[in-house]
Amino acid sequence: MTHKILIANRGEIALRVIRACREMGIPSVAVHSTADADAMHVRMADETICIGPAPSPDSYLSIPAIISACEVTGATMIHPGYGFLSENARFVQIVEDHDITFIGPSAEHIRTMGDKITAKETAKDLGIPVVPGSEGGVASVEEAKEIGASFGYPVIVKATAGGGGRGMKVARDEDEMARAYQTARAEAKAAFGNDEVYIEKYLQRPRHIEIQVFGDGQGGGVHLGERDCSLQRRHQKVFEEAPGPSISPEERAHIGAICANAVAKMGYRGAGTIEFLYEDGEFYFIEMNTRLQVEHPVTEGIFGVDLVREQILVAAGQALSFTQDDLQINGHAIEVRINAEKLPEFRPSPGTISHFHAPGGLGVRMDSALYDGYRIPPYYDSLIGKLIVHGRDRPEALARLNRALGELIVDGIDTTVPLFHALLREKDIHTGEYNIHWLEKWLEAGGLE
Ligand code: ADP
Repeated sequence: MTHKILIANRGEIALRVIRACREMGIPSVAVHSTADADAMHVRMADETICIGPAPSPDSYLSIPAIISACEVTGATMIHPGYGFLSENARFVQIVEDHDITFIGPSAEHIRTMGDKITAKETAKDLGIPVVPGSEGGVASVEEAKEIGASFGYPVIVKATAGGGGRGMKVARDEDEMARAYQTARAEAKAAFGNDEVYIEKYLQRPRHIEIQVFGDGQGGGVHLGERDCSLQRRHQKVFEEAPGPSISPEERAHIGAICANAVAKMGYRGAGTIEFLYEDGEFYFIEMNTRLQVEHPVTEGIFGVDLVREQILVAAGQALSFTQDDLQINGHAIEVRINAEKLPEFRPSPGTISHFHAPGGLGVRMDSALYDGYRIPPYYDSLIGKLIVHGRDRPEALARLNRALGELIVDGIDTTVPLFHALLREKDIHTGEYNIHWLEKWLEAGGLE
């Protein structure tokens, strides 16, 4: 391939993409803000270019700055990573208008899935089971109350344009509805500039199960099983594993085939994740993410494939390097997200890393952009690293996680590492008996004390 890939991102995910480029012999271009001039992704890339000042709207979210960077460096493809512009349909359109290849799906697919009501309707049409809820947007408190009464409480009011767990409010009874409805709308307006909301039945103790899919853009689709991401704080994932401890091979094959067929039918191109809530043996679609996910390494761990490489291949018009039959699960993988945050409040804690030591050994992968002396800028996400372990089975993966966390040193700032040490002392984590509410309840009950 005579390509050059510009990575429109920073931090560990930019490094992740640079690594895939290097193995494929493709030159990489790192973009950076002035605050990131010394960042690891800048040090590792073949070429670098400054695209603006520290605030992301002026750099990592600036479409003109990124397009200009492609023109200046001669980059032919853009990998968006996750977050930032990765699910921005307008960006994808502009990239394609400039004859640059976007490593991801079409603008149209991103637009369809980015609007949660349209996404749910599309999913339903494709034969994917969805959470029962309102037909489309809910225009008034009165309508919200009617829906609540017809589905039965509790229900959850969700922003159509939602993401990152924002714009979501639970109403446990009719009295709570007016407030939940208005707060969700106000939050949605502030966060996304769009106050449309819809209503779903609130599932009481589901697990978050998501299916990794890949479409070749030419009518073919495969699935790479599920990830269980039920351990969440404020709807944000902190610990992810594959395969899901509660999913049987039959359930995997069943929901996996539905998802693979759906992406095939859509003519979807590239990596995607179809997210479900799972309760009492039933799957309920909540949304589709049209990009690489933070937690993709656990899937890579159990299948032994490089998902970024496959994204690049498909974007360049080549075939995936595997078929559905080639994909066999090998062992168990777990990822923990290490954030620069002070516990127990999870307060952001940027600062200078006085000493960093990454764990190693069999089955251990550390994806981070840290180094000794690195100054974490206060402008961006608090994720500073992901520790991923792989074992022959779940108990071995958990033992390995415990061992690897013990080796990890991140001095100079506060991190979420103590959370994982504490979790590993809990019986429910070892038996795999947890749902999306487990972590919040455990924190409220003083789990960290
Ligand atoms: P976002 O795009 O903001 O991440 P999602 O629709 O993916 O929003 O939902 C995020 C999380 O919120 C889910 O993983 C789950 O924990 C919770 N959630 C969403 N919908 C429901 C529901 N109908 N019932 C119970 N919990 C829900």
